[in-house]
Amino acid sequence: KSALKDESASNKEKMDKKPAVNIPVQRLPEMQESRLKLPILSEEQFVMETINENMVTIICGETGSGKTTQVPQFLYEAGYAHTNGIIAVTEPRRVAAISMSNRVAKELNLSEREVSYQIRYEGNVTPDTKIKFMTDGVLLKEVQKDFLLTKYSVVIIDEAHERSVYTDILIGLLSRIVPLRNKQGNRLKLIIMSATLRVEDFTENRRLFKIEPPVVKVESRQFPVTIHFNKRTPLEDYLGEAFKKVCKIHRTLPEGGILVFVTGQQEVHTLCKKLRQTFPFEGKVEPKSKKSRRKKKENKTEILPKINLDNYSIEPVDEEAEREADDSDQEIEDNFMEGDDEDVHPQLSEDLQTGGTTEPLYVLPLYSLLSKEKQSKVFDPPPEGCRLCVVATNVAETSLTIPDIKYVVDTGKVKTKFYDKVTGVSTFKITWTSKASGNQRAGRAGRTGPGHCYRLYSSAVYNDDFEKFSLAEIIRRPVDDLVLQMKYMNIDRIVNFPFPTPPDDEQVKTAEKLLVSLGALTEPIKSVRMKDLKKTPITKITPLGKVMACFPVSPRYAKMLALGHQHDLLSYVVAIVAGLSVQEVFVEIQKPPDTDKEQDDFRSQIQYMSQVKKLWAGTGHSMLLGDLMVLLKAIGSAEYQGCTLEFCQKHGLRYKAMKEVRKLRAQLTNTVNMVIPDANICLDPKLKPPSDIQAKLIRQIILAGLADHVARRFPDPPPDADETLKKRKHAYQCTELDEPVFIHPYSVLYKQKPEFIVYQHIEETSKLYMKGISAIESEWLPVYAPSFCTLSKPQEDPPPFYDKSKDQIRCHMTSTFGRCCWEVPSVDL
Ligand code: ADP
Ligand code: MG
Repeated sequence: KSALKDESASNKEKMDKKPAVNIPVQRLPEMQESRLKLPILSEEQFVMETINENMVTIICGETGSGKTTQVPQFLYEAGYAHTNGIIAVTEPRRVAAISMSNRVAKELNLSEREVSYQIRYEGNVTPDTKIKFMTDGVLLKEVQKDFLLTKYSVVIIDEAHERSVYTDILIGLLSRIVPLRNKQGNRLKLIIMSATLRVEDFTENRRLFKIEPPVVKVESRQFPVTIHFNKRTPLEDYLGEAFKKVCKIHRTLPEGGILVFVTGQQEVHTLCKKLRQTFPFEGKVEPKSKKSRRKKKENKTEILPKINLDNYSIEPVDEEAEREADDSDQEIEDNFMEGDDEDVHPQLSEDLQTGGTTEPLYVLPLYSLLSKEKQSKVFDPPPEGCRLCVVATNVAETSLTIPDIKYVVDTGKVKTKFYDKVTGVSTFKITWTSKASGNQRAGRAGRTGPGHCYRLYSSAVYNDDFEKFSLAEIIRRPVDDLVLQMKYMNIDRIVNFPFPTPPDDEQVKTAEKLLVSLGALTEPIKSVRMKDLKKTPITKITPLGKVMACFPVSPRYAKMLALGHQHDLLSYVVAIVAGLSVQEVFVEIQKPPDTDKEQDDFRSQIQYMSQVKKLWAGTGHSMLLGDLMVLLKAIGSAEYQGCTLEFCQKHGLRYKAMKEVRKLRAQLTNTVNMVIPDANICLDPKLKPPSDIQAKLIRQIILAGLADHVARRFPDPPPDADETLKKRKHAYQCTELDEPVFIHPYSVLYKQKPEFIVYQHIEETSKLYMKGISAIESEWLPVYAPSFCTLSKPQEDPPPFYDKSKDQIRCHMTSTFGRCCWEVPSVDL
């Protein structure tokens, strides 16, 4: 047992195990009552003793046992926010950081001045803050500025089981910071909290913690959950199977909420819609007949928005068309979101009822891109006399606990993004989830009473095909941003870093290569120190890299920001980078339509969006900036209109994403002003569209950032071409892949097909598609992407000559680009 004790605990520390003060808290009675029900509350004394006696403590317990909301309160009451710093709590998800800080403030009866949050671009931290919730990325940035984290007395790393990359790195860093702080006598406690999933990565890894940290297990009152496996595993239609299962539960089983796990937003919507059609929850909606009549009429009107490109202002569109746009957008964003009106009493539409159900089904979607307000609906009790059914993605697995779930329907599937380590091509694959997460999902049914979990797969599949645990994120994604951040902290030998799960060498090498080519790292250099002479050469951060590391965006985009200073382009580059860094700014319609009417809606929606995009793309250099010009104009016009919900819905923009873009723009503007001398840009809500010449310069900056993402169109195959050549019709060759790649049909340059382009990323669906396309000129390659060009020997014709005006010898050289050795125009150097 003594091995578990704090190794360096001096006598003094042993004496002051308990912080001197006990901070009084006046909780509201109803809050006190609800927290008393949480399993962790009976463990308070043991939890606090363990924390007091150890440098590092691991707390693990079922989701919903009260870790996130209660442990910060225990520490607060024990005086940890009043001695040598404040309490930090990190969350991998932004939603969690915000909602948990609100919740804890409420429970402690304190204001948000004292229990605050900080996420990538917003926060409410004040000098009075005592408990600070933040995303793991935010704390990582703070480590770069103040390695010893002197502001804090405790750091809680929450949701460690999610194994997000930043959480992993933070744990690695903190394993070194904690002993350093203790040596200084200014102790720092580290608490790692996790659901009951694989803690061995933290406890048994001796490179990480020299002494095995104690694990406090919170026994929660988990009620028994009966697991029902399917006899056979449905091969494809797991969504249909899930639908049938929910219907059966609802029609035949006693009351109790249903939670269904599917893989993505689209599936959530499809299933919600089907369920709502089957068990209509009639709210204050127009009678069906009237609504469909109106719709028919609207379908006939032409819906061309009129956008004045000089100042982005939108001229009023005719009323009918406007309503159409609103309607159809509503369908994509909300897909029949109902039950918004609290004063409506739900009625049962009897004609659609077939079974013995006596109560309506109150269906709610839940996924991470859903707005905060809609997400929080799942915490409220369903309307009187209704059964709750939440159709959710993985978010409901551990980070949010939905009350009163009795039945879980588990498709067993999960959608994960995979990257090819070498090429960076990303694919979303739907795979079996892991045993650990299957059990976690089942556990959701036993929070308030005995429950049932219906697994839509057989026990044989579970036993044979499910991995034990899900993979840590770090081995599934490129690590270029991470390597840059670590080099910035002078952690030069990445392989020696105590990662809980180390990324593989190939990944690190690819990242370093990219960073060298972007100019953020030097070429590998040999150390001159005697003791290091035998070690492999290392790359070091360059001055450009240091600037790039200050921006909280991918290194490719950071390079654009670092270059955007020239020619007053920074405001545009900031806007574009903000747009590129936020997920899914445009509403993307992929829904496979089932009925004729839906197909019509679907088509008119696509047409409408492509008209809007075309208008935004404009002509000349503006048009050649392609999808990035569309993005810039979308952001510019939305800002011009005050970024309203109406505007976003009408123009196919995701409202939540646009609000994020706005915040990120503000943050990047601040950072740019801080790190680039004389940048002096302001956040202009009325950013004028760039001129033609500016658009051209922006294209060059985009190329400098995306230099490794250049693609060139294959020549059109001749009529008698063989199969391989025929496949190259309209295809492109990019520098890293052998297979042909294509411009995504939603790109504004889809028809144009310029010879040379840069792309934001490649996604593999039915083909390899490039997204986020801008056209470039081949003669720019040697200038803006020099590290990818190979220059010839100086040419004899014309011979090198002395250029008096520049006082240097100039010569003419030819160059080739990239692995494919494309010949690009010659340059004078
Ligand atoms: P854990 O971190 O162990 O998963 P939490 O501390 O997040 O547990 O949750 C404890 C309880 O608090 C849960 O039952 C959850 O439903 C409830 N809870 C959390 N946030 C809210 C909220 N915003 N409103 C109401 N209840 C909440
Ligand atoms: Mg939690």
